[in-house]
Amino acid sequence: MTQSQVDRLLHPDEARKIVFSHVEALEPESVPLDQAGDRFLVDDFVADVSLPPFPAATMDGYAVIHDDSSNPREVLGSGFAGDATSVTVTPGTAARIMTGAPVPDGADAVVQVENTKMVDGQVEIHQSDVRAGSNIRQIGADLREGDLLIEAGTRLGPAEIGLLASLGQAKVLVGRRPRVVIYSTGNELVDPAEVPGPGQIRDSNRFSLEVAARRAGAEIVRVGHIADEEDDVREALTSALADADVVITSGGVSMGDKDLIKLILGEMSEVHFRRLFMKPGKPMTFATTVGDNGDKKLLFGLPGNPVSCLVCFHLFVRPALQVMQSTEPDSFPTVQVALEHDIETSDRIEYQRAVVSVGRNGMLQARTTGSQMSARLMSFIGSNAFLIVPPSNDYYPAGETLDAILVEPPGPADL
Ligand code: AMP
Ligand code: MG
Repeated sequence: MTQSQVDRLLHPDEARKIVFSHVEALEPESVPLDQAGDRFLVDDFVADVSLPPFPAATMDGYAVIHDDSSNPREVLGSGFAGDATSVTVTPGTAARIMTGAPVPDGADAVVQVENTKMVDGQVEIHQSDVRAGSNIRQIGADLREGDLLIEAGTRLGPAEIGLLASLGQAKVLVGRRPRVVIYSTGNELVDPAEVPGPGQIRDSNRFSLEVAARRAGAEIVRVGHIADEEDDVREALTSALADADVVITSGGVSMGDKDLIKLILGEMSEVHFRRLFMKPGKPMTFATTVGDNGDKKLLFGLPGNPVSCLVCFHLFVRPALQVMQSTEPDSFPTVQVALEHDIETSDRIEYQRAVVSVGRNGMLQARTTGSQMSARLMSFIGSNAFLIVPPSNDYYPAGETLDAILVEPPGPADL
C-alpha cells in the first residue's frame, strides 16, 4: 500500500471493513463444560436424543388411567425421580409417583396428591375430570432429537451450559480467547499510586483498556507502560508480538515529535490505516504482521486521549476480538433514537456518549452526557450508548432521529 493510501482520512465504516478483512477466527479449542461459560460455541449444536427420554410426572401424586372410574384404587407402590418403572397400572389401581419420576406402564395421567385421599391403604381420587396426559411431560416435550438447539457463534450463558450438560456434552468446542498485550505510552504518565509531578498525569488508558479487553473475552498476557524512547518502544513491541495475537497501545499515534508508535509500527508491520474521519479518534493506527508460526498478529495503535482510546476500542478492537473467538463482530444493537435536545455537529462523524432511555411515548430517546471533549472520561460515566452524529454544517434539532449503538439496555426516562 502506498504512503498516501495509508494516510487517507478513512470513513470509520471503511476502516472497520479493512480491519475485518484481516481478522480470522483463531483455531478453536475443546474445553471442559465448566470452563465454557461466556465462551462462543464453534459449531451448531443439534440434539442427538429427545428430552425427557421417558414420560415423566410433573407433580407429586398418583399415576392412573384417566378414564378408570373405580374408587378407591389399590396403590401399587412408589416411584421416585431416578427410579426405573417396575409396576404396571391397570384398572382399579394407581401408583404413587413423585415429580420427575417415569410414569409407569399402563398409566396415562397423574393426579396431584392434593386431589387424593388415602383411606385404609387405598387411594381415593377426588377429581372428576382427569384428562389423558395431565401432569405428564411426554417424551420430547422439552426438545426433540434433530432440533437445532444452540447456533454456532452463541455466547454460552447459564441456560446454554445447562442444556449442554443435560445432553451429555462434557467438553465443548469454543473459540480460543485472543492473547492480548496492552501498553500505554507517554513520558508524562505515572501510576495511579503516584502523585503526578509538574506536567505529569496518571495513566488511565492502561487500566480501562485491560477491563475492556477482558470483557471482550481476551486473555490478558501483559499490561505495561512504555516511555517515549525509540529503543524502548521497539523492544516492547517485539516482545509483545512474540507473546500475543493482538497488541493494543495507547498514545503516540498523532503528529507530535514523540509519536513513536506510528513510526515504529511502520517499521515492523504492515500499516493499513492511520487516520479516521471520526471524532473522537482521528489518529488511530491499524497494522498487521505475521508471527514466526505463520499466525497473523493485529496491532491497534489507539489514540492517547482517554475517550478517543475507548471509543476506538469499541468500534475496532472489540469487534475484532469477537471475530477471533468465532462469533459475529457486533453484539450491540444499533437503534433509532429521538434527540432530547439540539446537538451541534462537527466536520467528522461523531460518536457522542449518550444516555438512551424509553420515553413517555414508549419510543427510545437520547441525551448526551455533556461536554464531549476527548480527554473527558466523565462523558462515559452513566452513558449506555454511542450516538452517531453524521457531519453537517448545521445542527440536529431536538426531536430529530439518529442512530445510536446501544451498549447497555435502556432504562426508563427521568420523567
Ligand atoms: P498522545 O496520543 O500520546 O499524543 O496523547 C494524547 C493525550 O492523551 C495527551 O494529553 C496525553 O497526555 C493523554 N494520554 C496519553 N496516554 C494516556 C494514558 N494512558 N492515560 C491518560 N491520558 C493519556
Ligand atoms: Mg503521547
